[in-house]
Amino acid sequence: MTDNSTRKQIAVVVPFLNEEENIPVMVERLSAAMADQPEDLVMLFVDDGSTDGSARWLADKARDDARIHLIRLSRNFGHQLAITAGMDHADADAVVIIDADLQDPPEVIPDLLAKWREGFEVVYAVRKSREGESWLKKFLASSFYRIFHSMSNVEVPMDTGDFRLIDRKVVDALGDVRELHRFMRGLTCWVGFRQCAVEYQRAPRHAGTTKYPVWKSAKLAWDAITSFSGSPLRWMMGVGVAVSLGGILLAARLVASKLFGWQESVPGWTSQVTLMLLLGGINLMCLGLLGQYVSRLFEESKKRPLYFVREYIRGSDPSGKPEA
Ligand code: UDP
Ligand code: MG
Repeated sequence: MTDNSTRKQIAVVVPFLNEEENIPVMVERLSAAMADQPEDLVMLFVDDGSTDGSARWLADKARDDARIHLIRLSRNFGHQLAITAGMDHADADAVVIIDADLQDPPEVIPDLLAKWREGFEVVYAVRKSREGESWLKKFLASSFYRIFHSMSNVEVPMDTGDFRLIDRKVVDALGDVRELHRFMRGLTCWVGFRQCAVEYQRAPRHAGTTKYPVWKSAKLAWDAITSFSGSPLRWMMGVGVAVSLGGILLAARLVASKLFGWQESVPGWTSQVTLMLLLGGINLMCLGLLGQYVSRLFEESKKRPLYFVREYIRGSDPSGKPEA
């Protein structure tokens, strides 16, 4: 038998927002999936401001299950920060991040662990298929990965989510990255280390509705792009240069027509107004885009804590054994 003191520990971080119908099934399926693994399991649930009974259920369950830990954040900070809170509090040898809605099947974790034991430090799960999601979401997701790929110099593998295993070394490295607008799967690639993929079939949500409406996904996509790429700013300059060149050509033509009497100078009201509106629009758009980067600078410069923990409940073992 393996000596308990030398057994490695895996912390499974589960961020959740109002998932009371899914969490009991998650606990059951996680325990079953990890039952015959040589590592010890800790389930680190992060309550991202839930208002349903999920946190209460977990707090009750933690009274007689030392493997269950519950971190309750002071409010809803968003999925990416909930993951961060979980990783900051995990002191295991490796951390697995998984959604609470069972779209990422816990049964895939042993496959991730197998790769980790081979020496990989980040094992990410790539979706071979995604059932039960709208065609719009699938289309937007796949377009996003392609656009992100072409814009940033960080290679985030396509069709990955946050479902992945991260070794202690990488958890520590990510712990030093404290930016507020975070795109965890981008950062996990950016830190480097030995990475590999494991394919899986993404299941439909077990119960409840998505907590990521299209606007929240769009916000995450925008955060991802602005925090990893300055391309939009370069495009803005490109548009500026193209419009200025057009303006110079037009001005040359107007001067020439005045000098050589090709055309009366009064007609042209329509083209003038059109140009004015077009240039005004482009100007505002570029200013807005610049503003996006400046506002991100402003928010990052405040260096506020990323989240606050209201309560940390550690599971206890009724038999009196020390907790995991
Ligand atoms: N989630 C969270 N905070 C939020 C939104 C979502 O912790 O503000 C959790 C949610 O409970 C789930 C995971 O993040 O465990 C992924 O969210 P969801 O399944 O709703 O997103 P989708 O899979 O539809 O993109
Ligand atoms: Mg989901």
